[in-house]
Amino acid sequence: MPVIKPTCVRDLKLRVNLADVVARMVTLRKAGGARLKGLCPFHNEKTPSFNVDPDKGYYHCFGCGKSGDIISFVRETEQLNFSEAVEALGKRFGIPIEYEEGSGGPSTADRTLRQEVFDLHDAAAEHYFQAFKAKDTTGDAMRHLWIEQRRFTAELADEFKIGAADATGSGLGAAMMRRKFSEEALRRCGLFFVYDDAAITLQSLRPRFRGRLMIPIRDHQGRVCAFTARQTDLTPADDPAKDAKYVNSPETPIFTKGNLLFNLDRARTAVGEGKPFVMVEGQLDALRCWSVGLKTAIAPQGTSITEGQLVLMRRYHTQVECFFDSDGAGQKAALRFLPMALKAGLEIRFLTLAGDSKVDPDLLFLERGLAAYDEVRRGAQSAMVFACRAALPDPPTASAELKSRAAQTVFEIIANAESAVTRSEFVNETAAHLRLPLAAAHKDFQTFLQRQNRLAAARPPGAVPAAPPPTPHTAHTSERDLLLLCLHFEAIGKPLSHSLPHDWIDLSHPAGALLNRFLGEFEHDLWPGKDHLENLLETDAERSMVASLLFETPGFEDPLKVAQEGLRQLRTRALEPRLRQIELALANPHAEIESDPISLLKERSELHRLLRQPISLAASA
Ligand code: ZN
Repeated sequence: MPVIKPTCVRDLKLRVNLADVVARMVTLRKAGGARLKGLCPFHNEKTPSFNVDPDKGYYHCFGCGKSGDIISFVRETEQLNFSEAVEALGKRFGIPIEYEEGSGGPSTADRTLRQEVFDLHDAAAEHYFQAFKAKDTTGDAMRHLWIEQRRFTAELADEFKIGAADATGSGLGAAMMRRKFSEEALRRCGLFFVYDDAAITLQSLRPRFRGRLMIPIRDHQGRVCAFTARQTDLTPADDPAKDAKYVNSPETPIFTKGNLLFNLDRARTAVGEGKPFVMVEGQLDALRCWSVGLKTAIAPQGTSITEGQLVLMRRYHTQVECFFDSDGAGQKAALRFLPMALKAGLEIRFLTLAGDSKVDPDLLFLERGLAAYDEVRRGAQSAMVFACRAALPDPPTASAELKSRAAQTVFEIIANAESAVTRSEFVNETAAHLRLPLAAAHKDFQTFLQRQNRLAAARPPGAVPAAPPPTPHTAHTSERDLLLLCLHFEAIGKPLSHSLPHDWIDLSHPAGALLNRFLGEFEHDLWPGKDHLENLLETDAERSMVASLLFETPGFEDPLKVAQEGLRQLRTRALEPRLRQIELALANPHAEIESDPISLLKERSELHRLLRQPISLAASA
């Protein structure tokens, strides 16, 4: 096992700003002092309780209790082990990783399967990209398709690493085998068809994508995790999906369709005030938007949009403009999407072109450039107007019965919004658009909600996942209080180390183990300071505990008093059980006593003396 040098880990933590790492996943805003705040990536929430302290290098969520440092953040959000997380950070920030002598370096055998499949995709993307640029039949045909037919530029192909799979697809297997990826990775990467029991050879690796234009799909962190392959004239007749215009990678250890939005890795850095996400239907639409300078476009991966995608999106921005085809299918998709979006707390608007029945964003932007965006924004419909139009295209001529039915359809969507204010405004909008009397619309909506509640009450209670409650520390309050003191009032550490015997500390809990270790450092004048604790922390539980303690603002008036109280409690906890045991033994003449009554009496008076002794930190031995 390669072991990364602790000095290297320390160096990395000093040089990389935690806020830069977190900002890849969470939109952070100032929260007083140096602290930043955002929506927690570890639990679902609508008001930010995820705090980052870039100076100290720790994060803490007051909602779900998760806390940690730069390395635990990368480990948890990218599902990597410790070394992989350090290596990933090193790579990202250009910091060379050093290994302990003799422990080797990063090797294929030690990579987790996920990491290996990521690496394999990286290599495959490069392979396809080189094939796209090659001056041969495949390259020429694909570039022709890209530039002449689709009218994209060569620069855009470079930027997104657009690739080509040749008609036989055979090059890829050989290239990947040369890179010595493991059998497991080759089997599970999704780029090949492999029979379950077949040994991995060049012959058994049958490429999934042949004769197709390859669009790399990146996750929100910019790592290639899948491909979308577009049909071309080179797609062979024996392709099992010959007639499919687009073929996607199957689900793999690194690719779950429902958790991915195309171009989110780039768009999320471009969104902001007045610059909402623009949701388009396909990847090439999103690429077209990008090419004309509309950098906030994203596309769902596959046909329907999932809740997971919306929650992911919401981490970065709440406003979304939807650019769906205005034909029937596009409308249906939009209506399915709307309730989920409201539930996720997104603000939705629909982009439409006045008078146009069919708007194709690809064509629109190709012909008119970015100016077209301003025009479609001027004609944008609010979520409710869109929903009303879909439910009832022509309100003035509709009967009361039809209007009422349309209102019910829209109410079902509105009920997903959490805020009462939002709901009420939506009902106003619906009433205006469907030409319903306002008071009647509100009354109907209330009736609708009541019926819905009755229905919900009649259903068996489902498993509603809630944020886990913060871990209770009641059993180890004293150790925890003393730890808090050591971290926030470092001067107290040394006297504390002299006043607290090691055997009073309960080592079975991280708080106790840490306190014991910290006091040892204080005692020997080796305390590195609270910002350099990495070498003293042995487990994730310990790292997490320290991070959460560093985030606490101790409300102590008098830290010395708290220390004394903590000591007193630990002393009581340590000595009293023995005292009770002795008294029980002395009171029961038939008891089998482990030692003679005289020494028990002696021990009892010694315990009494110890328990009564005033606690003074200054009285260090
Ligand atoms: Zn949280």
